Amino acid sequence: MSQELSFDLIFESANEALFVVDARNACVVDANKRAGNYTGRSPAELRGVRFADLFDAPLPLRLEEHDTRHSEVLLTSSGPGPLPCEMTVRPAIRSDRPVHFVMLRDASRHKRAMKDLKLRNEAMASVTSGVTICDARHSELPLIYVNPGFERITGYSASESLGHNCRFLQGNDRDQEGLTVLRSALKDGKPCKVRLRNYRKDGSMFWNELHISPVHGEDGELTHYVGIQIDVTERVLDRRRLEASEELKTRFIRMVSHEFRTPMTGLRASAAFLKDYGPALTSEKRERHFLNIEKALNRMNRLLDDVLFSSRSDAGEIPFEPVTLDLKAFCEEVVEEVHAIHADDRVVFTAAFPNGTRFLADPALLNHILHNLLSNAIKYSNPEKPVWFRAGEADGRLLMVVEDEGIGIPLADQDRLFAPFQRAGNVGTVKGTGLGLYIVQRSAERHGGAVRFDSEPGRGSRFVVDLPAKAAEGGNP
Ligand code: ADP
Repeated sequence: MSQELSFDLIFESANEALFVVDARNACVVDANKRAGNYTGRSPAELRGVRFADLFDAPLPLRLEEHDTRHSEVLLTSSGPGPLPCEMTVRPAIRSDRPVHFVMLRDASRHKRAMKDLKLRNEAMASVTSGVTICDARHSELPLIYVNPGFERITGYSASESLGHNCRFLQGNDRDQEGLTVLRSALKDGKPCKVRLRNYRKDGSMFWNELHISPVHGEDGELTHYVGIQIDVTERVLDRRRLEASEELKTRFIRMVSHEFRTPMTGLRASAAFLKDYGPALTSEKRERHFLNIEKALNRMNRLLDDVLFSSRSDAGEIPFEPVTLDLKAFCEEVVEEVHAIHADDRVVFTAAFPNGTRFLADPALLNHILHNLLSNAIKYSNPEKPVWFRAGEADGRLLMVVEDEGIGIPLADQDRLFAPFQRAGNVGTVKGTGLGLYIVQRSAERHGGAVRFDSEPGRGSRFVVDLPAKAAEGGNP
């Protein structure tokens, strides 16, 4: 086969559009069938046409400048729009004439693929979930792609993450059930969904709901894993809060029913006694039953007060209405009430400020604070021991200290004592709801103050309420 003939064969059967362009006048000398398809003109029609006129836009380079580089050109086509092509130019000699040998390859498919890819990249960038791809052909399963969602959730940038196994999100928290499930799925090349405690770059924990799907190549070989990460921390916390509040509700109902039953039983008994034997009883006995009824009602009333306070406090509805109070007189009154309720007179009150000193405070909240602390001191100590109650002012703070020599509070219980329904392990048969200290704390906080305590089991406890001492206008401090 002659050289010319074999050239013609290749020329005609090529998949690309081929042109032979005269180097001197830049006109087409020859074109193949594919060139005809691309341009919508026959090879015969193309001959003699200025090559540059075949394009929608000026060529980026003159043909002789082209060397062997590719450039992108827009060929005027028979179709609805110009055809993007990749152009390669080679100088040659044909029939003793210097020519350019030009090859155009349809780049529209490639262009479309690139556009698709760009769209997908943009989609990946806009999803809030984390999307990762790791290389399953490498035993370390290194990350080869992370989207911006992953960067947002974890705080790690792509450059910090790529090339590493995802386990850097685990920190030292490796003993998790989800990890066992994940490991076994990875071993078997199976998809899985797990919930893991993961750690952001700043060390904070988040709950990661991770979906893993294996990706297989054409030959069925496992090549990649695609991971979708969703930060479900809020969802997990919401569920926990709900569970905790459900639990509180259950404890609450149990406690209230239990606590109400005791005074109600006494009340019913005394009422029945008075009804059946009233006229026959001595006045002394009658009096005792009436007193019992009164005590039971008082107790139920306080219980209702506490319950109401707690539920309003949980809802953030506790009003704070400070008024001018003569604090010493106020405290003395509370001590008297507490003595009456407990049929006890062990509280020794001292005020380290002059009579008539006035403070701004909310009387209802202060009443809650002192009633609960003094009642506890009485309840949890031996009737022979005194209860000390001191009020004073120091460094602009109003300090109220209630101290007893009672059973004290075991160390193990001290941390949780201000939470609702918490009672220490050493209360024995002493009645209580575990709401008192919670109410004390909330009431102090409502004043912008705090309550703290120290206690030694078997020796006693000291509670200190520390409030900002806002003197009433015209008052002494
Ligand atoms: P309760 O109704 O059980 O007295 P509180 O909320 O007032 O509830 O107190 C919570 C728990 O703290 C009590 O059950 C008790 O275990 C402990 N506590 C409170 N005050 C004293 C105290 N002065 N001495 C010993 N234990 C106390």
